[in-house]
Amino acid sequence: MSDTRLPARRGVLAVLAVLVVAGGLAARTVLPDGVGGPLGDALYATLVVLLVALVRPRTSAVTAALAGWVISAAVESAQLTNVPAAIVDRFAPARWVLGTTFVATDLAWYAGGAALGGLLVAAARARDRGPARHDAHPRGRRKVWPLLVAAPLAVVLAAGGAGAWVVRDEAHDLRTTLPAARALVEESAGRVADDAPLVALRGHLSDADALLAQMPLLERRPGDAARARAQILRDATAVAASRLTHAEADAGAARDALAPVTARGQQVVDATDGLGAPDDVRAALVDALAAAAATEGQVSTLTTQPASTNAWVTQTRAEQVEAATAELTASATAVHDATVALMTAQDAVTCPFPDQMWFPEAGHLSDADLAAIPWAPGFRIRADLVPSLVALNDAFRARFGQSLSLNSAYRSFEDQVEVFNPSNPNPLAAPPGCSNHGLGTAIDIAGISTPGSAQFAWLAANAPTFGWVNPDWAQPTGRLPEPWHWQHVSTPTTY
Ligand SMILES: [Zn+2]
Repeated sequence: MSDTRLPARRGVLAVLAVLVVAGGLAARTVLPDGVGGPLGDALYATLVVLLVALVRPRTSAVTAALAGWVISAAVESAQLTNVPAAIVDRFAPARWVLGTTFVATDLAWYAGGAALGGLLVAAARARDRGPARHDAHPRGRRKVWPLLVAAPLAVVLAAGGAGAWVVRDEAHDLRTTLPAARALVEESAGRVADDAPLVALRGHLSDADALLAQMPLLERRPGDAARARAQILRDATAVAASRLTHAEADAGAARDALAPVTARGQQVVDATDGLGAPDDVRAALVDALAAAAATEGQVSTLTTQPASTNAWVTQTRAEQVEAATAELTASATAVHDATVALMTAQDAVTCPFPDQMWFPEAGHLSDADLAAIPWAPGFRIRADLVPSLVALNDAFRARFGQSLSLNSAYRSFEDQVEVFNPSNPNPLAAPPGCSNHGLGTAIDIAGISTPGSAQFAWLAANAPTFGWVNPDWAQPTGRLPEPWHWQHVSTPTTY
């Protein structure tokens, strides 16, 4: 025992190390960041000094303090590289040892902490020298009592430190979950099938804010933040599912709305084949129809994917369906506009007068859409117009004692071709496709060719009550006076 430098006592160093760890965790957890951060950094260096002394008990206090500072500063400097961040990414608790961001002032806090560590190492040195230390009794008493006090204290402090770590870690997880949940709430308003999960999520987000404002450990216990986060994730899953349900219903409605528009567009494409409308106008409608079909396919794919239990996956799916639905609606508008453009272009080619309109269905109505006129079964009109014509005829017969005498009603396309005679056009007939006789909405009444006749005067005064009119162009002052031509007011006049 020629060495005058007495070794530091390892038991004391270990107890001090536990105290320093607990103090550091408590400082980081409980104190405001401005105070807890530097204090935690300083105690980090203190811990390193104590660990150096634990490994080499005979190291002088000054050497241990210097070594502690150098090691702490080296760890801090390592944060200039992305290595610590990469390790923390894989193992989150490593951030308590490695940190993630280099801050130059931390080196000063380390110096203070290392100095404190040096003082503690000096204090931990065995004080008694010489023969007295061979006296077993007092040393035995001094050895046992500190251990009896220190061991439970160390357990309590270690448990407290672990609790603090858990509380802090859970709070961190909860905090990182909140922004996405908040965004989901904001973006889902008015877009959910059921408001209840949205209301619940909103409430639990407020609860989480209140929970995070509580004092760690004193008020917010281990498990509190984890439970709050689990509840928010359950709520978010329900909100996202409700939003997807709503989005899929909207998508279904948009598809239902698109179907008749594309059917009409296809009908017009087919009917204009070879009729001389400009190719580019036809091509534009064909392209619009193809684009609509592609969008529909996209929606089908999205809405047949299996459901996910992950809130954010479901939210993304709902957003995709919402976007595709908007595209579907835009497609319907595009197809409609292109259809009108092509019908207008075909009308310009086929129908010479503004009061004539070209329709692809003119002369091509199905038997189901037509019905025979009861008192003149050789003639047919659009089935839904028969009651109004019967009512008009009843009133006419009550006045004149006989039914309206008809000599034309619905004309098939072939009939229109025959009446018009393209090789020597009949100036009284509209070109095929331009006559509303082809739409089943017009009749020609025999025996009232004289504009001043009593029958014409009565019809002019009374037929509109039943929805039937002699149109402007057919009136005595019109483009082509045809007192016999009467049509229903539902005859379309625009595309
Ligand atoms: Zn007519």
